[in-house]
Amino acid sequence: MSPGTLAAAHRAAGGAVRAVDLVLSGEASNAFVATRPPGHHAERETTMGFCLFGNVAVAAKYALDHHGLKRVAVVDFDVHHGNGTQDLLEDEPRAFFASSHQYPLWPGTGAAHETGPHDTILNVPLPPRSGGTVFRREYEDKVFPRVRAFKPDLILVSAGFDAHRDDPLADLMLETDDFAWVTERLCDLADELCGGKLVSCLEGGYNLYALAESVAAHVDVLIARGAA
Ligand SMILES: [Zn+2]
Repeated sequence: MSPGTLAAAHRAAGGAVRAVDLVLSGEASNAFVATRPPGHHAERETTMGFCLFGNVAVAAKYALDHHGLKRVAVVDFDVHHGNGTQDLLEDEPRAFFASSHQYPLWPGTGAAHETGPHDTILNVPLPPRSGGTVFRREYEDKVFPRVRAFKPDLILVSAGFDAHRDDPLADLMLETDDFAWVTERLCDLADELCGGKLVSCLEGGYNLYALAESVAAHVDVLIARGAA
C-alpha cells in the first residue's frame, strides 16, 4: 500500500458503480472497468489478496438497492476463489454468485459444498492443469444453467486473467481464446436474459503480457457485442 492506495480503492469501487449506472441507463450497452486494486478477495471486515473493497459486490448491491433491480448474477472466472464476493453476497438472496477457480489453491475456500444460506452460491473448483476443455465444459454444464435459472436483470463479471497458462501464480492452463470464449458466452446469456446488460471488472492477472493480451480479447468481444 502507498499514500494513494485509499483513493485508488475508492475509485475502483466507484468505477464499478459508475459502470452500473451507465449500463442500466442505456448510455453504454456493456462496460469493462479497468481497475486497480481488484476486489474479489476483500471480505466484510478484512482486506485480502491485494483487494481493499469488494468492487463487484458493491456494484451488485448498488444495482439492487439504488436501481431497484430484482436480481443480479455475478460470474467470477479469476483463477482464485472469490471468497470476498461470496462473503459479501451470500446473505443476499437477490444475488447469485458463481466462482470457478483452481482448487486447491490460495485462499483455500471455494469447495463445491459452499452454497450459501440461500443456495445462491455456486463454487466450481477445477483441478490444477485443467485447461480450456474442462473449463468450458464446467461452464456449459454448471455455471450457465444456474445463471439462466436465476433470471438476473444484470450480469456482473469478476474478470481475472490469472488462469492464463503463462500466469506465475497458478496452473490452470487457459489460453487467451478461452477468455474470449467465456466472454462470448456470457454476452449470449446477457442477451438472452437481460437485454445484453453486462458489467465486467478487472480482478487478477500477473503476467503482464498475458494479461494485456487476454484483456484485449475480452474487451474486443464486449465492444463487438455491445455494438451489435
Ligand atoms: Zn486471482
